[in-house]
Amino acid sequence: GVESTSKDPEVASSRLVPGQEQSSSSKRKKLVLLGTGWGGMSFLKDINTSLYDVQVISPRNYFVFTPLIPNVTNGTVEARSIAEPIRRMCRNRKKDVKLYEAECLDIDHNNKRLLCRDVSEVTVKGKEEFIVDYDYLVVAVGALSNTFGIPGVEKYCHFLKELEDASRIRDTIVDCFETASLPNLTDDERKKVLSFIIVGGGPTGIEFAGELHDLVHQDMAKLYPFLKDLVSVTVIEAVDHILNTFDARIQNYAERKFRQEGLNLKTNCQVKKVNEGEIVYLDHKSNREEIMPFGLVVWSTGLGTRPVVRDLMEQIGQGDRKVLATDEWLRVKGCNSMYALGDCATVEQRKIMEDINKLFELADKDKSGTLTVEEFKEMMEWARKRYPQIETFMKKKQLKDVRLLIKSAEASHTTDKTEVDLEAFKEAVAEIDSQMTRFPATAQVATQQGAYLARCFNRLPLESEGPEGPLRVTDEGYHRFQPFRYKHLGMFVPLGGEEAAAELPGDWISIGRSTQWMWYSVYASKQVSWRTRALVLYDWIKRLFFGRDSSR
Ligand code: FAD
Ligand code: MG
Ligand code: MG
Ligand code: MG
Ligand code: MG
Repeated sequence: GVESTSKDPEVASSRLVPGQEQSSSSKRKKLVLLGTGWGGMSFLKDINTSLYDVQVISPRNYFVFTPLIPNVTNGTVEARSIAEPIRRMCRNRKKDVKLYEAECLDIDHNNKRLLCRDVSEVTVKGKEEFIVDYDYLVVAVGALSNTFGIPGVEKYCHFLKELEDASRIRDTIVDCFETASLPNLTDDERKKVLSFIIVGGGPTGIEFAGELHDLVHQDMAKLYPFLKDLVSVTVIEAVDHILNTFDARIQNYAERKFRQEGLNLKTNCQVKKVNEGEIVYLDHKSNREEIMPFGLVVWSTGLGTRPVVRDLMEQIGQGDRKVLATDEWLRVKGCNSMYALGDCATVEQRKIMEDINKLFELADKDKSGTLTVEEFKEMMEWARKRYPQIETFMKKKQLKDVRLLIKSAEASHTTDKTEVDLEAFKEAVAEIDSQMTRFPATAQVATQQGAYLARCFNRLPLESEGPEGPLRVTDEGYHRFQPFRYKHLGMFVPLGGEEAAAELPGDWISIGRSTQWMWYSVYASKQVSWRTRALVLYDWIKRLFFGRDSSR
């Protein structure tokens, strides 16, 4: 599948000599995976490499356990402890894959070709770029930090996305303290250098703020006691509350905790500009522009689109979107043989309303124009597997039986309580469709999608149609492959001070120290290998005895 882009005919023809490798892999279809993050790793773990000629392209030859990145910024965990080399994982799991450490620059979906480039420090001159072609493509390249085009962000702020970002932030924090220790500074200048700002009150920003607060008030305060009254940590959030995707109880707890501990919370404040050493924001409460000096700003406000994904979206008529749209089988809309998952994609769930006439026709076996309750039930039992919103709706309304779904429709259609006509059916369905929500951009979603897609691919006794099975409601009304379903297992936010909050399924909220212990055990168990698990545990224990490492 790999060719050199070199124009040299010698090189080109030598590649075409029938080789052992080519003949053995010619039967297998070429499956190319872009990205080795949560989505890519999860797919790779489960894909049966004897069925496909699997090639993996990623600018990093390792996987990063992103939930622990904030812990790297303050020296609780070492960067190396949360990175797992992909080659090591493939060897251990006996995966026969080719891995190219390179970035995919361009996806040519018409010709099923990828343009890739070695972006590492060591390259061979003139051979940095190469082409890979594919039969199936799985796009799992994740997303970028979103700057919203605000001037100065790219230049003066740190992002908290990659492992290198965390190490750089850690260095800068120590640098700020060392600079503030120099003899020729005034206290005012020291205060400016020791002003740490976090923009974005989402879970990542808040976790980082909590960690940073611990670091500067515990460990750094011991090493730089003369600076401890000059340090400040500020969170700037554009809306009313921090953690606004979480339950109000968690929001309130976190806000109260932060305020008690002297962390500055600036809600309703929108950053307008970042200059060297100062940030300009609009305080919506007073409607005034304020300026705040800083030594370090960490920018954590949400996700933006990678250029390679944006280009692809323009090619396939998705140019007006922010994320790649897929159907519920994770197939990229408007493309053949292309799949996408994780942060770079979003699943457009199918509305029942789109299929309503067809469904009604199928259910109405005697063509009477109405459904008996039994017919309705049969249809809904089947539809439950096809349209996940039915399950969500039934859970929310605590309905045990699909028959109860017509209850709401019955109320307005008092004609005959044992029959459902198309109008009543539509009414019931409209309410169900309104329950559809987007999946969040989390490791949990990406992991489940990777495993799901691998399962689809593995089931293939390759039919001409591909691994996904029929998409639309067929005349028989059945699908061989169920659409992707997300199972939410809950969400943690560590708040610093050995406290954490958790929101678990079934409206279960847990906050405090015991939750932090739950967090430790969950994140230890979720490590992708025994090696990283041992390293992370070792780092945690080391910190318990010796505190955090403050060297640069
Ligand atoms: P990623 O994991 O970002 O992987 C993208 C991969 O694509 C990388 O390997 C990258 O190198 C590669 N790539 C990039 N560009 C290209 C290219 N052009 N060609 C080929 N490969 C490319 N989620 C949770 O559920 N719980 C948490 O506690 C949590 N904490 C987080 C903390 C931090 C600091 C961050 C940044 C994220 C956190 N998340 C958490 C979110 C979670 O990490 C993401 O949702 C998840 O990583 C998405 O997986 P992905 O595979 O789509 O993308
Ligand atoms: Mg990935
Ligand atoms: Mg290289
Ligand atoms: Mg310095
Ligand atoms: Mg009938």
